[in-house]
Amino acid sequence: MLASLSVLEIVLRVISPWALAIVVDHALGGAALTGVVADGLHMLGLGTARKDILVVFVGLGLGMQLVHQLVVMLHGRVSVSVGQILIRDLREKQFGHVQALTLRHHARTPTGDAVQRLQADTRCIEQLVLRGLFPIVFSFLTLAVMFGVLVTIDVPLALLALAIVPPLYVWLRFYARRMAPNADHARTTDSRLSSRLYECLSAIRLIKSHAREDHEQARFARVAGDAAQAWIHVGRQGTVFAIVNGVLTVIGSSAILFVGGLGVLDGRISVGTLLLVLTYVGFVYGPLSAIAHTTNDLQHAFSSARRVRAVFATIPENADAPDAIPAAGLRGEVRFEDVSFAYGDGPPVLDRVSLTASPGEVIALVGPSGAGKTTLASMLLRFYEARSGRIEIDGVPLDHYQLRSLRQQIAIVLQDALMLSGTVRENLRYGLLAATDQEIERAARAAHAHDFILELPAGYDTELGEAGAGLSGGQRQRLSIARAFLKNAPILILDEPTAALDTISEQQVVEAVHALWSGRTTFVVAHRLSTVRTATRILVMDHGKIVAMGTHDELRQTSLLYRQLCAQLAEPGDESRRVSTTG
Ligand code: ADP
Repeated sequence: MLASLSVLEIVLRVISPWALAIVVDHALGGAALTGVVADGLHMLGLGTARKDILVVFVGLGLGMQLVHQLVVMLHGRVSVSVGQILIRDLREKQFGHVQALTLRHHARTPTGDAVQRLQADTRCIEQLVLRGLFPIVFSFLTLAVMFGVLVTIDVPLALLALAIVPPLYVWLRFYARRMAPNADHARTTDSRLSSRLYECLSAIRLIKSHAREDHEQARFARVAGDAAQAWIHVGRQGTVFAIVNGVLTVIGSSAILFVGGLGVLDGRISVGTLLLVLTYVGFVYGPLSAIAHTTNDLQHAFSSARRVRAVFATIPENADAPDAIPAAGLRGEVRFEDVSFAYGDGPPVLDRVSLTASPGEVIALVGPSGAGKTTLASMLLRFYEARSGRIEIDGVPLDHYQLRSLRQQIAIVLQDALMLSGTVRENLRYGLLAATDQEIERAARAAHAHDFILELPAGYDTELGEAGAGLSGGQRQRLSIARAFLKNAPILILDEPTAALDTISEQQVVEAVHALWSGRTTFVVAHRLSTVRTATRILVMDHGKIVAMGTHDELRQTSLLYRQLCAQLAEPGDESRRVSTTG
């Protein structure tokens, strides 16, 4: 569609100036009209008097111009849709890829940068295809056709018209090389700007509570200033580029006017033909400068494309082995065997950890902050891969399961209960997309969330703002527990909420948690004495090692570290002693 419209556009361009040439030579100049054109007029029953020629060819010229405009409009419309579809597809593909990237990658990449790449840089595909590839092909095609026609009119003029191409090409190459690093730099400053913005907005509480608005304002101004400077530089380069282009084409047109003018004075060509040649030369220079301008746009698009490509070049989470099996209906027996792990090149965070949890067992993890409790739990979800040793569920190594099905079998409830924008119901349904309203309500009741949900302005249909704004910490916790109920996974990872909750909330959360973990293999990073007392087994961790294991009573006899930790653990409602062991 786009290609045929383009061809139609070229054809109309080639034939429409003929009307002008005929009007000038035959209607105004008075030269006799002969040949096919005269025969055509006679066949249509029209005369070849000067006035007749004026009327017919001005009308014809007008008609062709109108059709030309129509084609240009259609062309524009089709390009816009094609461009947007290309962008949409690239964005979808990139979003999919970004979601599949490892947590480690996400932890290292500023959100603003990732958003910039997904939102702004993906537009490069439209520019590359519709403002790059397509116009260049179109321009060269026009150039070839115009040159072909010019050659039939006057060979020296045709060659003269083409003489501008080599200097223009050399200039283009020079410019593109100078421009690329600056375009890249401008894109990077943009990305820094969004990153700054995202960081500040997500830490707005911190900023306000420290009254650091002015400080942040100054930091923001610096980054915004850098971006402005980079774009000013790019813009300036662009204007120099456009001017040199303009000068080159003006020199070319003047040379043709001069040589063509000499031809008219010698009587070698008519005025109409010179006009025709000049119009064609305009058409030839049009595409040439379009190519030149496209090169300018293309530099930006290439720079974006490099950023998009870098995203796709980042390797996603380990793909499933071809013979990986789906993890379904697991019993929940978990075994760690000599598992060691470190983040990047850092010190070991887990050091030859071995343990076996039977189905339904509740294992409390205690230990000083930084001991590796959270890391141990994350290993089960394969957020990170062990350096050595093996982790098995129901006797099958983790990497023999299909990753996503494995994660379906593990529910997590974290201290910071995350909510997405949407209604309460939608947030709960995140645990089980196919859940019915009855199932959702049952889960909410089990999590002691039903009553407070009913008190919300629209009950289950209350919109939660981003990050669950409008709910208390305890309420968000209970929603997150309800979500875990719906997921109904055989394995559960819990990071107990601590100081964030008031006493009543906390009691309800504790009850909800106990209901949730019954019958599931549970790893709970414990912050309460009541939790460690109820757990079937307690692992005491220190510096990445399991230093003691047993029940509360056993460990109180045998482990000094445990006794010290217990002294710090909070009792529900015990305000004075509610101290987090993870800090
Ligand atoms: P705990 O839950 O017992 O407080 P963590 O498992 O959170 O301990 O952390 C164990 C160690 O690993 C700490 O020294 C911490 O600094 C480090 N650590 C945790 N997460 C990361 C990470 N994403 N990148 C690098 N180091 C980390």
